[in-house]
Amino acid sequence: MPAPPAAPLAQVVPLTPVDGVYTYRVPPEMDAEAVAGARVVVPFGRRTLTGVVVERFGDDDLDPETAPKLKPLYDVLDARPAVPADLLALTKWVADYTLCTWGEALKAALPSGTGVESRRVVHGLAPPDAWDEPRGRKVLRALQERNGAGLPVAQVAGVLGRKTVPQNLLRRLEAAGAVRLDDEVQEARARAKTARHLRLATPPAGGNSRTVRGARQTALLEHLAGVGEGGAVQAEAFAATGATSSTVKSLEARGLVEAFDAEVERRADGLDGPAPEAAPPVDLHPAQEAATDAIAGAIRAGRGGTFLLHGVTGSGKTEVYLRALRAALDKGKTAIVLVPEIALTPQTVRRFRAPFGDAVAVLHSRMSPGERLDAWTRIRDGRYPIVIGPRSAVFAPLDNLGVIVVDEEHEASYKQFDPAPRYHARDVAVMRAHRAGAVCVLGSATPSLESVANANAGKYTRLEMPDRVPVRGPDGTTHAPAPLPPVRVIDLGREKQVRRLKGALSHDLRLAIEARLGRGEQTILLQNRRGYAPVVTCEDCGWTPTCTDCAVSLTVHRDRYGKLSDQLRCHYCGLTERLQPACPECGERDLRLLGQGTQRVEEEIAEVFPEARVLRMDLDTTSRKGAHRKILDRFGRGDADILLGTQMVAKGLDFPRVTLVGVVDADTGMLLPDFRASERTFQLLAQVAGRAGRHELQGEVLLQTRNPDHAAIRFALAHDFHGFAHVEMAERLALGYPPYGRLVGVEVKGPEQRSTEALAERWGVALGQEAQKVAGVEVLGPAPALVGRVKKWWRYHLLVKAPRTLPPSVLAAVVRAVRDRVGAPGGHRVNLDVDPVGLY
Ligand code: ADP
Ligand code: ZN
Ligand code: ZN
Repeated sequence: MPAPPAAPLAQVVPLTPVDGVYTYRVPPEMDAEAVAGARVVVPFGRRTLTGVVVERFGDDDLDPETAPKLKPLYDVLDARPAVPADLLALTKWVADYTLCTWGEALKAALPSGTGVESRRVVHGLAPPDAWDEPRGRKVLRALQERNGAGLPVAQVAGVLGRKTVPQNLLRRLEAAGAVRLDDEVQEARARAKTARHLRLATPPAGGNSRTVRGARQTALLEHLAGVGEGGAVQAEAFAATGATSSTVKSLEARGLVEAFDAEVERRADGLDGPAPEAAPPVDLHPAQEAATDAIAGAIRAGRGGTFLLHGVTGSGKTEVYLRALRAALDKGKTAIVLVPEIALTPQTVRRFRAPFGDAVAVLHSRMSPGERLDAWTRIRDGRYPIVIGPRSAVFAPLDNLGVIVVDEEHEASYKQFDPAPRYHARDVAVMRAHRAGAVCVLGSATPSLESVANANAGKYTRLEMPDRVPVRGPDGTTHAPAPLPPVRVIDLGREKQVRRLKGALSHDLRLAIEARLGRGEQTILLQNRRGYAPVVTCEDCGWTPTCTDCAVSLTVHRDRYGKLSDQLRCHYCGLTERLQPACPECGERDLRLLGQGTQRVEEEIAEVFPEARVLRMDLDTTSRKGAHRKILDRFGRGDADILLGTQMVAKGLDFPRVTLVGVVDADTGMLLPDFRASERTFQLLAQVAGRAGRHELQGEVLLQTRNPDHAAIRFALAHDFHGFAHVEMAERLALGYPPYGRLVGVEVKGPEQRSTEALAERWGVALGQEAQKVAGVEVLGPAPALVGRVKKWWRYHLLVKAPRTLPPSVLAAVVRAVRDRVGAPGGHRVNLDVDPVGLY
């Protein structure tokens, strides 16, 4: 019997939206493992949940009344704490800042599907006709069909075709003895994987080797001799040597080889595989040198600090990141690199893996839960000092952090919206680095105005790289920096007036493409709308098809069978139906397809340039794993002349033969009712323009627009980030929007319009009352969301606005007070979004 623990109690945060910290007794046999950061299984009301121990303490100060009533922990899931101490503190900060529970924030820091949870399950005890009410009968019938296997309570809603679980009905059924409600514990969905391994038997049964016959046996023995005691995965050894199970059997029988099971790491394909070959070291150019000195200097000195690395596209930011990582590793420290969306930036990931090879773990959104668990476990065990990943990688369980790099820090994908925590990975990165005494590097050609403001205020150190890297010609000589490509604006309104516009591509853009085709150079075309045509309308009565479940019009998609099989699709819920050849309202056969999706532009290119080889990259062509990479590899090999796509083609691509970038419609998104619309448009245009003429060949950019005087267009034309930022900042200041103001978005959702609107109104009133107590706080709304209904749920928005000088905790308290008072009763949902990105 182990000695009773000195600190027999544990504070546990359950990994659910339930708020609070709960106290449990630690049984002596769990004493050593139930330390702060360990995941534990606990009884929670009628349920069983996974939680994280956040503190251990003694029972000295405990009221003798409560102490005996405390329940014991059921189990400890980790031999080593899953959440290191600094991540415990960081997730607590995230929870407080983003207005979610600590448990929700901790969940974001843990691999999904690894906890133990119970769910409520109903079992039927009575036949359907024992109940008179039709809904109850329906539930009992569904239970009867399951022959004793229970139905998870969450699925009862579906049986009745409803959105919410009929709690009331279930309670009545239970009270009448017609059903039984149980809690069933579900095992973890993701666990470590083992595989059969082979190794040479120890001690080797000497002498027998003479009796080995056959090339396969010899090959397998040689292979195993080369891998050592850890052995080789059997399947891999077979693939390498041509050996089979019978080869193993005969070697085993003679005591030469032994088989055993051992854990293996599941590695996602595509981004893994052997590390690419390291590029020869480059000599930094002066701006890179200055940036590297500042960053690496801070890392070496252990000084910490945040750097805003503002470098134009092609200025060599990645090289600076690599030197920062090197500095951290040389000091025995670890590093995190955040990239916006890994599938879109395989080139960037390859460049990080080349010099550091096996020291790098790559996390990405398309990993299976098992692959993710394996990577996470090994990161926690210190196997990988460098982690590259999307926003969630900011929570990677690394100790001894030296640097966090946030590449393309302005990208909206760093903000998580659903589920909570609604955090911004850039801000969490800055905070995590700060707490760890590490350096944070925020890099971009078009930094967010938030970061610019922080640099202006002296909170971040600004590093500028205003020129592209000097080009090295094929003969090995270097030339002056390649200038940023000239940008030309094509005014679509004028083109239409002079009747030169026939489709999506203007006369000048067609000429420019033709010239590239003639010279064997490549073109990137951006059209930020997928599908064929965004809207259909009846010429006669004005009918337009809309989604039955969402308040949006349906987009026409055309497949390779052409017009007759046109489909209508909802881009919000995925609903798909046939486009009928005639108007369902008036029978008119002349339906007009309005607007240009990527498919339609592709069709136009095929008509105008039948010889051109086109690759289309949008959500529809990249849904399969590895599809992005395949398209980009083909383009990189020169198997296509034109890469056409949505904003995916704007990001981080570096192809030497691309000399033309065409933006088919620069106005998409520019006029959205969002105060960041202009900033987003400028960023997108600057990013895509940066894809042209990055190497020896001079590039050119053509922007088609109906708003040639819009600030985003004018400054993109001149590659003038500072000019744009200056004008845009003045506007934000005048309106009190970020970076000069703080915002909290409130989204009220519900399955029924009237009650949802009423709840939004109650929130509005209550927020107004709370806001009066704090100077400067203002409430806007409620108003229907831009898309007022999604997947049958109605949506209303409110916005709470405060000056930047108000501490975030004061603003949070205002919103929290209303959440406690009004909440989200009656099957509604209210999402709070601190520092919202995108006011859709
Ligand atoms: P950014 O990330 O700023 O757009 P990159 O880091 O992709 O720029 O650099 C642009 C190109 O210049 C890449 O092909 C890169 O390999 C190359 N490059 C970067 N730094 C140097 C250097 N000091 N000398 C030579 N080539 C460099
Ligand atoms: Zn009609
Ligand atoms: Zn829909």
